[in-house]
Amino acid sequence: MRRAFPGGLRWPSGGFPYHKRIEPLPRPQDLAVPLWHGGRAEVQPGDRVKPYLLIGYDREGLPVHAPLGGKVSEVGEFPHLLARPKQFDFPRLTVFIDVDRKQSEAALPYRPLPRFWELTHQELCRRLLEAGVMDVCHRDLPRMVIHNALDLEPPLAASLRLLEERTAEVLEGMRIINQLHGAVRSRIALASGFPGLEARLRMMLASSVNLSLHVMDPVYPQGHRTLLKKEIFPGDRCSIYDMTDALRVREAVVLGRPVVESHLTVRNCPVDLCRNVTAPVGTPAGHALWSSGDEARPWRNANHEGRDPPPKLSLPDQAGTLSLIFGGLLSGRGYYSLEMPVQADTRGLLLVEQKRSGPAPCLNCGACHARCPSGLHPSEIRRQVSRLDTKRLAELGLDSCLDCGLCSWVCPSKIELFQQIEVGRMLLGGRL
Ligand code: SF4
Ligand code: SF4
Repeated sequence: MRRAFPGGLRWPSGGFPYHKRIEPLPRPQDLAVPLWHGGRAEVQPGDRVKPYLLIGYDREGLPVHAPLGGKVSEVGEFPHLLARPKQFDFPRLTVFIDVDRKQSEAALPYRPLPRFWELTHQELCRRLLEAGVMDVCHRDLPRMVIHNALDLEPPLAASLRLLEERTAEVLEGMRIINQLHGAVRSRIALASGFPGLEARLRMMLASSVNLSLHVMDPVYPQGHRTLLKKEIFPGDRCSIYDMTDALRVREAVVLGRPVVESHLTVRNCPVDLCRNVTAPVGTPAGHALWSSGDEARPWRNANHEGRDPPPKLSLPDQAGTLSLIFGGLLSGRGYYSLEMPVQADTRGLLLVEQKRSGPAPCLNCGACHARCPSGLHPSEIRRQVSRLDTKRLAELGLDSCLDCGLCSWVCPSKIELFQQIEVGRMLLGGRL
């Protein structure tokens, strides 16, 4: 099977919970729904909210709805400085909701539009905007679309599970997206190795004129936007959506349901748990990591009362030996508090053993270069970062780095090359 990039890595399928059904999480006691810096809240402390009620607007101006019913306990800055300080990506404005133990049945807020093919472009755009899915009202949308079903970064598997479990709904979502784009061609990017799913999709797509399957070599990071475009529509403008996008589009249009939950893979190494779940937006990471089946195990410090002052949350029982990662194992971001909430775009939540020993010297083995899908020389970049040689760094092509994290992963000396590349970018951008 042809591949449009060098290097990469093929993982054993055992590293992914591909076979595990997506289960709903037990209901959390509270939610911290991020509106982010620049967002605007439409509720205040003491307000009661029902599921799907509009509670504010995020930094992009997209409406945000209450995932569950309850009482707003606080509206304000997220209290824990969690993210890597240079990026300021912690959710500033946040609506905290104490979730009702008993949830009342709530009506969906928007009129169902099952005959979506009769809708105009403007009507579709308006619905996706009001449901908080996306704002494409004033965009010139490309006529080529890729529906990305590749889950190739361990252990992320929820996207593929959605396609497997909710095939008809996800395909309907893809058709709505195609209508939105006026797509002349669109492809579902699927990894080889799933013959049952592939056969089912081929059968269901047999009469489609603008939607077909593109089966690919399952080599990480093939699912990266740049590589996907290069492989499927080289030279053309195209947009890329994942399976969660397709499902959300379908739910917003056909059912009138706004975005209130996320589908993600959760791996908790200390308790040997790895599964795919649906979690309400705003669910604390600790709850998602420690609840299992119908059971939600306590994860907050027993002496933690309230949120002010911010609790010094250590990871239960194993302080300092674990890393909390949002995203995949290689390219995910590290955070320092289990209070960090699941967000609408969270695809993975991992608690993994931290490597405690420092890096060994570079062996000049060349593995980082050999695996780099952009053909970069990460060891050389690291060397020039340590010398602060911006002239030489500018020649090393840092802009083509895909942030895949593969160089750090394969390095036998465990050198944090990926982080050094970020430092190199900051040096070049004058941010250090
Ligand atoms: S993170 Fe950048 S430099 Fe490292 S392997 Fe990926 S693309 Fe190459
Ligand atoms: S993989 Fe690690 S040890 Fe090998 S050349 Fe790259 S930085 Fe050096």
